[in-house]
Amino acid sequence: MDDQKILMQDLGSEEDDFGYSLRPETLKEFIGQERATEQLRIHIEAAKQRGDALEHVLLVSPPGLGKTTLAKIIANEMQRNFKQAIGPIMEKLDLASTLTNIERSDILFIDEIHRMKGPVQESLYPVMEDYQLDLAIGQGPGSDVVQIDIAPFTLVGATTREGLLSGPFRDRFGIRIHLDYYEPDDIQQVIRINSGKLNIDIDENAEYALARRSRGTMRIANKLLANVRDYAQVKSDGVLSLEIAEEALKFFGIDERGLDAQDYAYFETLIGKFNGRAGLKALAVALSEDERTISEVYESYYIKEGFLMLTPGGRVATDAAHEYFGYPVNSQISLFY
Ligand code: ADP
Repeated sequence: MDDQKILMQDLGSEEDDFGYSLRPETLKEFIGQERATEQLRIHIEAAKQRGDALEHVLLVSPPGLGKTTLAKIIANEMQRNFKQAIGPIMEKLDLASTLTNIERSDILFIDEIHRMKGPVQESLYPVMEDYQLDLAIGQGPGSDVVQIDIAPFTLVGATTREGLLSGPFRDRFGIRIHLDYYEPDDIQQVIRINSGKLNIDIDENAEYALARRSRGTMRIANKLLANVRDYAQVKSDGVLSLEIAEEALKFFGIDERGLDAQDYAYFETLIGKFNGRAGLKALAVALSEDERTISEVYESYYIKEGFLMLTPGGRVATDAAHEYFGYPVNSQISLFY
């Protein structure tokens, strides 16, 4: 069930909410992350000038910051085909059939590349380096390995956990791009653009209120916009004023820092139940939540907000977290690490 859940989450996008895609399609339309987009622009331009495939690209960020979007943009900008695979469910044979159908300079996007099975990952090494796939034919003593030439293509791998990639695998990506959480101003810009696309009549202050509560994450911004739009449509004249936006956010249980019931449950468990320090396993059991979801989806944002520290002794709630969630500050824990 956990794998299923993660897959659904990662595959879920604003297409489900709005009936069509709000993804930007060019580097120019991709808001924020200037360093990353400039880096890509230069590599893409250079590869196009030389008529080569772009080097392999590794995109690293917490979920919802634009890895898939950027991978599609790379294909658009290179004017090549975009093919997509999901790391964890990929088998050697899937990889072989995808690769033998790939054309020169095409983009193969593999999501959650850190969760790819070891042998599948290893079979990618010669492919990435020499564009050669070793394929086993038959089984037992009569089996043989044939080498198949693959068209020079670009592998774009996305990961939320760069540290889980083996050194040799990571080193085979010539271009590595890290995406950071967005500033509210960037998110506000996207909310404005998407409101325009969706014919939502939204007030500037309401845009900013949603942006501030989007946890630095574009996917969350789009989801909030969808939810709040529905609320405005049903509860008022359809205009998304600041007042309506705040009323709606309150109704959906989202506080002024974008935290919801699940986040409160996390800190109530960590602080209230475990005295401010706990291991991931214990937290996962207490919250009936998948360890990976906790660490990859939730905790990276808590760390960024200064609510959480990862220490050799476990997860530690900071003084700021104690204060914010209404617990007496226990400085000793924070000072200790
Ligand atoms: P990831 O692959 O990192 O989980 P996605 O690429 O699926 O994230 O991004 C989630 C959604 O957020 C996208 O569908 C897109 O509409 C929106 N988005 C992400 N980054 C940007 C951006 N820089 N500008 C505008 N929209 C963005």
